[in-house]
Amino acid sequence: MLNYDLVIIGGGPAGLGAAVEAKKNGIDSILIIERDWELGGILNQCIHNGFGIHEFKEELTGPEYAHRFIKQVKENNIEYLLNTMVLEISEEKEVIAMTDNGLIMIEAKSIILAMGCRERTAGAVGIGGYRPSGVYTAGMAQRLINMEGLMVGKEVVIYGSGDIGLIMARRMTLEGAKVKCVVEISTHSSGLNRNIAQCLDDYGIPLYLSHNISTIHGKHRIEGVTISKVDEKWNPIPGTEEHISCDTLLLSIGLIPENELTVNAGIELNKTTNGPSVKSNMETSMKGVFSCGNVLHVHDIVDFVTQESRVAGRNAANYIKGFDDSEDKLLIETKALDGISYIVPNKIISGGKDGANLYMRSKNIYSNVTLEIKSGNKIIKSKKMRTMIPSEMINIPLKPEEIADLKEELTVEVIGI
Ligand SMILES: Cc1cc2nc3c(=O)[nH]c(=O)nc-3n(C[C@H](O)[C@H](O)[C@H](O)COP(=O)(O)OP(=O)(O)OC[C@H]3O[C@@H](n4cnc5c(N)ncnc54)[C@H](O)[C@@H]3O)c2cc1C
Repeated sequence: MLNYDLVIIGGGPAGLGAAVEAKKNGIDSILIIERDWELGGILNQCIHNGFGIHEFKEELTGPEYAHRFIKQVKENNIEYLLNTMVLEISEEKEVIAMTDNGLIMIEAKSIILAMGCRERTAGAVGIGGYRPSGVYTAGMAQRLINMEGLMVGKEVVIYGSGDIGLIMARRMTLEGAKVKCVVEISTHSSGLNRNIAQCLDDYGIPLYLSHNISTIHGKHRIEGVTISKVDEKWNPIPGTEEHISCDTLLLSIGLIPENELTVNAGIELNKTTNGPSVKSNMETSMKGVFSCGNVLHVHDIVDFVTQESRVAGRNAANYIKGFDDSEDKLLIETKALDGISYIVPNKIISGGKDGANLYMRSKNIYSNVTLEIKSGNKIIKSKKMRTMIPSEMINIPLKPEEIADLKEELTVEVIGI
């Protein structure tokens, strides 16, 4: 049995940021476990720029952003294991992992869950037809093209207009493919506005909103898809079917936080985010187990992942040193009211010395509204919002003095919808 003070599961930006912060806060015995053959997580395949604008005030590519943290991990002599997959964690904080050389068991004082998320596949949306070759998740195509140097197709349809789908529309075009269209079931794109402009409009790629893909054609290799207009309940409207020929379909239809380990360990999940339910110090329902990054909730920009990882790393370090920010303090539930789909964290530590960072998403697109954060009848913060878009996560930091004596549920509501 190996022993570490802190075991971090996942070597993406969340795990790396948490490790560096725990080290800065006095913890030397740290192990990062990563199943891939290198550190950096999904950022290694995101070779476009636009990362780090908040964190470094620079536009970096994904690998450049990851490298800044990998460098700090190495400079700080933080240990890491690659090609190692964590299979199980127990209530006693024992970690079982599979390495190149067989199983290992590690006893930890604290654990940080930073496993990221994976993409939904065709089965999740029930598209009709066979399952021929040429159907990829957008992330898998991104990895094959950007990391393995393999081109996946020539005539492409993309299903889903989230950021990964939009970025892959541009990437496939730059690599010489013809992207016929991006098909989006919703009335609006779930990607950032800047990505719609830079990845579709700049290349003349049409975006079909309120459309679905009902059928995949082709038995061995995909030959085309049928798209249809959908009504407000997303049911296809008869008579609107259109056949589009293609040899490749990229699915960008949502991300699922990778929480099998979390569920098996009996840690409580937040039903809306599918990530662990956490307090404002990022501690899950299991004492000494913290979480951050995409495994906690799906982030749009990595800078917020880093911000969150610092809170998890610092509080895991405090826990190991015997100082628990939530000890003997009142835990105040957070509740999303009108216009808000979810809030992380789920509980605020009243009087917590770090304050709290509220992350949330709006349910719909709103303009010229006010975001109101209240506890009982007391308005804690009120912010005018010119626009609110579900794809853009909102972060509202609350200072320690703002949560010093919270007693009643903390609610967030959009006023003026
Ligand atoms: C396919 C995809 C493409 C993306 N593209 C973009 C983009 O173009 N632009 C953008 O701004 N954002 C993009 N994102 C969002 C980006 O993922 C986040 O900003 C950020 O990378 C999340 O960091 P993370 O550390 O939480 O997760 P990740 O970067 O996903 O890292 C999690 C790490 O945990 C490891 N892991 C998981 N389970 C285990 C286990 N059991 N044992 C050991 N290791 C494990 C994984 O191998 C992975 O390296 C993308 C996300 C995905 C899923």
